[in-house]
Amino acid sequence: MSAENWAECPQCKENINKKYSNQIQKLQEDYGKISAEEFIKRTNELKNKSDLNADLDDMECSLGEYYEIGITDNMFFVDYEGHCSDCGFIFNFKKEIDITKEGTGK
Ligand SMILES: [Zn+2]
Repeated sequence: MSAENWAECPQCKENINKKYSNQIQKLQEDYGKISAEEFIKRTNELKNKSDLNADLDDMECSLGEYYEIGITDNMFFVDYEGHCSDCGFIFNFKKEIDITKEGTGK
């Protein structure tokens, strides 16, 4: 594989979002079990979501992308692999088509 790029990992992004939706769910479950002051305090904390945005902004591009694309012997090919060093997410895509059989755009 020749090309290399770093991208934001979709699963890491999902994990950050999930962390906050879990906190919202937890707060809803705690309704009535905690004091009104506590409930309002936690609601306000979640409302401004500054932590969520900061976490998303701070997200490092941990998804290493390796790909090749081109034409060899009348075959057009794409060979892609992306994998995340933080969470272990992996995505592969590989496809070849015969350019003499597929549309050439003419
Ligand atoms: Zn990840």
